[in-house]
Amino acid sequence: MPGKLPAGQGFKIMSGPVLTIDLEKIEKNARAIVSLCREHNIKVAGVTKAACGMPQVARAMIRGGIQEIGESRLENIHRLRASGINCTLILLRIPPLSEVDEIVASVDISLNSELSVIKALSGAADRRGIVHKIILMLDLGDLREGIWPDDLMPMAREIIELPGVRIVGIGTNLTCYGGVIPTRDNMGALVEYARALEARYSVKLRYISGGNSSSLPLLASGKMPEAINHLRIGEAILLGRETVHRNPWPGTFQDAFLLSSELIELKEKPSLPIGEIGENAFGVKNTFEDRGNIIRGILNIGREDVNIEGLRPVDRRLAILGASSNHLLLDVTAAGTSLKLGDRPLFEVNYAALLSAMNSADVQKKVLLTEGSAEHALHALHASGVSLSGERGVIEAFKKRGLEKGLEAIGYQVFEAEETIASASGVKLALSKNRIPLILGRDHSISLTGFLGLSGQLDAFGLIWFDSKAGFSPSGMEQKEGQGRSALAAALGYGMSPAFRELKAHLSPENTVIIGLREVEPQEEELLAHSRVRAFTMGNIDELGIKEVVHQGLRIAASGTRGIYVSFRPAVVANLTEEESMEGLTFRETHLAMEMIAQSGLMKVMDVVGLEPGDPDRVFRKTLEFILSAFGKKILGKIYHV
Ligand SMILES: *Cc1c(COP(=O)(O)O)cnc(C)c1O
Repeated sequence: MPGKLPAGQGFKIMSGPVLTIDLEKIEKNARAIVSLCREHNIKVAGVTKAACGMPQVARAMIRGGIQEIGESRLENIHRLRASGINCTLILLRIPPLSEVDEIVASVDISLNSELSVIKALSGAADRRGIVHKIILMLDLGDLREGIWPDDLMPMAREIIELPGVRIVGIGTNLTCYGGVIPTRDNMGALVEYARALEARYSVKLRYISGGNSSSLPLLASGKMPEAINHLRIGEAILLGRETVHRNPWPGTFQDAFLLSSELIELKEKPSLPIGEIGENAFGVKNTFEDRGNIIRGILNIGREDVNIEGLRPVDRRLAILGASSNHLLLDVTAAGTSLKLGDRPLFEVNYAALLSAMNSADVQKKVLLTEGSAEHALHALHASGVSLSGERGVIEAFKKRGLEKGLEAIGYQVFEAEETIASASGVKLALSKNRIPLILGRDHSISLTGFLGLSGQLDAFGLIWFDSKAGFSPSGMEQKEGQGRSALAAALGYGMSPAFRELKAHLSPENTVIIGLREVEPQEEELLAHSRVRAFTMGNIDELGIKEVVHQGLRIAASGTRGIYVSFRPAVVANLTEEESMEGLTFRETHLAMEMIAQSGLMKVMDVVGLEPGDPDRVFRKTLEFILSAFGKKILGKIYHV
């Protein structure tokens, strides 16, 4: 299916625009750039700003050998940090005076050109007792940011005296505003300024940062001065192009990002509008060529969502005629009958289109991990066995009610861990044998064990946490960590224990979803609100319906991860456990949620917590039914596309 996604099969996609992001290709692009630069002793900062600082994209770059990330927005820096990206972060845009405190607290290095800002950074860093590193930007003629070369020495003299800041490098940015091309001359000038600065003030500059993707042709031609030891590369990694001529860069993919949207009208109509022609909706008077009747297609995407001029149909037989706010018009005549209503033609994006699509809330971002289709990934995840572990008494209580028989009836072989209590290594072992660990325990401390086990097997996983409580309680944190009320916060890096802190690199708050929330402490609410965890309260479920909530939840948890951990506390269900509540999920809603999870094929581990061996028979029997639904038993018997 070159050039389009099939209509309405397999993974249901929203009808609107979707940007698919192929992390494998980004990783390979990064590797190609990093290895070229390494040959020239150049270190590369991967620039994520066109991808809005999306942590999955940054991780793909890091897998490809990138050791530093450059970002221009603080908001994106926070997004990266919250997802456990702990490499050096460089703030690319000159800092605003109003944000110096936040900057010294959250970025390692900032690019600077204003003395008063550097003084303010100095004050902010000094108050915190830290040293903030700066790279001085020189304007070598592109006329965007940078110190005018004549001003460099006098400015440096003042900066050297400041506490709290240290000049670690000098850099320049070309081909951004003025379109000035990096050459041996202007790069040579940068090196000379660096050497002069080093000599005058007896400093050693670690970074001589010679620009962005537009510096690659000079580098490849062998004419880059040797002293240039750093580049900040965005477009060449994300879109596989250098930026002087926008030629594809050897060894990279140009289609790591693809945009698609749905064909909502397909008709044969004239190529020439009928009637007197004035300005269109955007104040432009167009001219049209009469080519007789053509087949015109309309897609449900427009200028509101994306920079239309930056799109190029993957199927080269399609041609973009134009667009209004919400409609994109295509000439599909050359494609004959191969397109039909409901199809989703694919488009390559240029930098401007990528930036706009990433920033549009209406464009769904769908992350692919492997080359090939999402369906393909699903089959690879299919497991044949279930491995039971957890607390002996709870396991026995479930077994007494037919846990093993139930699982066997839906096609799983059941294995039981030998140790009496779940361990991370046991969970990891079960996963390595392609079994789904089912962990049964009294409280969420066992979830942390499960997370650790899964993190030993997968670099990135998502979490769906079915609980009436958030596990974010600050008061819980003071008690034994990970016990019940603060387990989720501990897993996301808010706790003190180093064992759990490393989880942050595998589980991002951005891939964490709470479903069924109905009790939060005030302080907990605040922590949760800042955490980037997506919490669906019972109120949200009433408004959206459980199907939509689980659908969204799966999408969030699966985005850029290799599988999902499902944690289930039966108290999330109404009228089930001792924590009697009429407000929780209904039995039907719970079954539906579990069946959708089973159908997604994404569940790698499940835990069920909060039951005591002596709990009533009814609680165990009902909970067992929910577990079986999550493992694929059809109770409601419908098919749900997720
Ligand atoms: C955006 C930016 C880059 C990266 O530019 P690309 O053309 O995407 O490689 C590098 N440096 C600075 C200062 C930037 O703002």
